[in-house]
Amino acid sequence: MQLMEQPDTTGIEYQQGTLAGWEVREYLLLKWGYRCAYCHQEATRWEVDHLQPRSRGGSHRIKNLALACHACNQEKGGRTAAEYGHPDVQTEASIPLKDAAAVNSTRLALYERLKQTGMPVETGTGGRTKWNRTQRGLPKTHWRDAACVGASTPESLQAQGVLPLLITARGRHNRQMCRTNAFGFPDKAPKKTSVVGGVRTGDIVRALVPESSKKAGVYVGRIAIRATGSCNIQTAAGTIQGIHVQYCQPLHRGDGYAYQNGRSA
Ligand SMILES: [Zn+2]
Repeated sequence: MQLMEQPDTTGIEYQQGTLAGWEVREYLLLKWGYRCAYCHQEATRWEVDHLQPRSRGGSHRIKNLALACHACNQEKGGRTAAEYGHPDVQTEASIPLKDAAAVNSTRLALYERLKQTGMPVETGTGGRTKWNRTQRGLPKTHWRDAACVGASTPESLQAQGVLPLLITARGRHNRQMCRTNAFGFPDKAPKKTSVVGGVRTGDIVRALVPESSKKAGVYVGRIAIRATGSCNIQTAAGTIQGIHVQYCQPLHRGDGYAYQNGRSA
């Protein structure tokens, strides 16, 4: 936000315009929800509209910019947003993105904490990440984006043959203190965390089911267990139902995260 608000005080890349333009465009797309600020239609051709026109002293500051479709931008011409019959757009433009405001209030504290680890810490904007990734011709995935954060991203990134480990936060247990019926009235006790046969829902297990059983085979994955000892195992190939806990060996205790091998580049 600060980079966009004060484009003059920032680095060379900003003054040259490429990265700055990218940041502003990304911001405006999010801010206006990929819709024209005037006719609210999704357009295929975006234009950055100056609410107070450039020709009448309007600045490049983010508060003076809106996303407009080509038709509206043409029609508006040299008028201000208010003169064009849209004083609301003027008001809307001066309200910063809600998410950006929330992130701004915590990011500095987070940054200071991370610096205390003694490791080199760098921050970067979402706009820069996308710019870095696009410059390097990489397709969009979360892990490639992670490699493209910040100014220190190398000129070329060797993504070929990289097998990413994808970690997803899933949360632990269920903290709902009472469960409700279809009308919202509490009618059930909270879910109990059950340990059955030494394992609990969320653990990663290996099940060795003997030949004598219908479900014979070796399964590795996240377990969901019932009090009866019957469980489901979520493997890479799908969910296997009705395995008995006696065949299960815990490999990794549930820690609130799901681990998965991503596809290689
Ligand atoms: Zn429009």
